[in-house]
Amino acid sequence: MTPGNLLHYGTMPVPFAALWSAEQGGIHVARCPHIDHLALCDVDRRGEGKPIFGKPHMGRQRQLIVNDLCDLCAKPLKARTKVSLSHAREVVSGGAGMTVMQVEPMVHKDCARTCVEHCPSLKHDIRNGTLFVRQVLKHRHQVALLAAAAVEEFTGERREGCAGHAKIELLRWKNRDLNWLMERRHD
Ligand SMILES: [Zn+2]
Repeated sequence: MTPGNLLHYGTMPVPFAALWSAEQGGIHVARCPHIDHLALCDVDRRGEGKPIFGKPHMGRQRQLIVNDLCDLCAKPLKARTKVSLSHAREVVSGGAGMTVMQVEPMVHKDCARTCVEHCPSLKHDIRNGTLFVRQVLKHRHQVALLAAAAVEEFTGERREGCAGHAKIELLRWKNRDLNWLMERRHD
């Protein structure tokens, strides 16, 4: 599936990585073309059934993260304001100060605003302090390999050396808030 075609469910724009109900339950081990490695993969039936917000499709999640693409529109993040909307808290990293490790792909600022405008639960979580708005200045990605037991739990197949989700490590960022996100300047 090529990125870049934004799908809607009713009037709701659906993030590129969101899992669709027709894709549920088919998790298996295969070579993921986005990382060129064995990985846990979902079947590809984007747009079929209902979107399951907050639950990413394994392959599209990796595709966005390793290529630095926006979670909503799947277009490059490069040279634009990059926003992290994540439940992940800051943690101490060895030698490097504080860091954030997140599985949520980043979004353009205007795309983050669109997500928040359409999803009351995001707005609620930001206000409650359980969802963090960060402007990302420096980051890197990594794809960790899963233990064989974890792979077996997902697929029923005991395999070594399979990748799971891609992760983004934030190295430099500014903590932002809902007001910053909603202001229509410097996108
Ligand atoms: Zn975008």
